[in-house]
Amino acid sequence: MTIHENVLRVQAAIEAACSRVHRDPAGVRLVAVSKTRPVTDVEAAAAAGVQHFGENRVEESQIKIPAVASPVSWHMIGHIQSRKAKAIPGLFQWVHSVDSVALAERLSRLAVEQGTTLDVLVQVNVSGEETKGGLEAVGWEGQPAVREQVMQDMQRLVALPGLHVQGLMTMAPIVDEMEQARPVFASLSALRETLRQTLNVPLPELSMGMTDDYPVAIEEGATMLRIGRAIFGERPVEP
Ligand SMILES: *Cc1c(COP(=O)(O)O)cnc(C)c1O
Repeated sequence: MTIHENVLRVQAAIEAACSRVHRDPAGVRLVAVSKTRPVTDVEAAAAAGVQHFGENRVEESQIKIPAVASPVSWHMIGHIQSRKAKAIPGLFQWVHSVDSVALAERLSRLAVEQGTTLDVLVQVNVSGEETKGGLEAVGWEGQPAVREQVMQDMQRLVALPGLHVQGLMTMAPIVDEMEQARPVFASLSALRETLRQTLNVPLPELSMGMTDDYPVAIEEGATMLRIGRAIFGERPVEP
């Protein structure tokens, strides 16, 4: 399978999932996750029509992004160490992995200093896995204290200059069957709805769904899919 064929296959699967739940495929953005992949692979996916690319490491992005000639948008999807945040506003248009108020404040300050703005998504942990970063929201449906903390944090984030908070992102746990990820996606979607109503902010984007579970994520309302292996093939084991 070539990258071009993979892109067409993923786009067809996106359309099929959309039609099952009567959604317009135009409301679902494919972010091709090109981490560990060379510039030539990015160009191949861009030639097949992909307009958005995701990376998870600052150093790799600093080399790769300036080397890509196609006019694409770049999305930071990995954890950002505070000492590396400085590089983000000049490289990326989107950050999906705003996982703390402290990071948001830092990115806000840097964006303002650099005279730019960033579209950001707030990463939320709704699955309870220790390894998944983000605002702690496990059990938010039943626990008022958890809900209140998320509300307070979001209220601070949406007020920061230089950042446009566009929505929420989550990582589902790795499961055998994609159906098992559905409750996590449904929970993020419901949290977005609650935040919209309480904070009176639009939050149009939900970044959820990867190679193994994106059809279910679409059914639960995803507007951004972060898909790597289905487009570029298996990755070498990450260090
Ligand atoms: C690597 C990665 C993805 C893509 O995973 P695939 O299984 O290759 O589709 C999505 N989101 C994040 C945060 C990632 O690090």
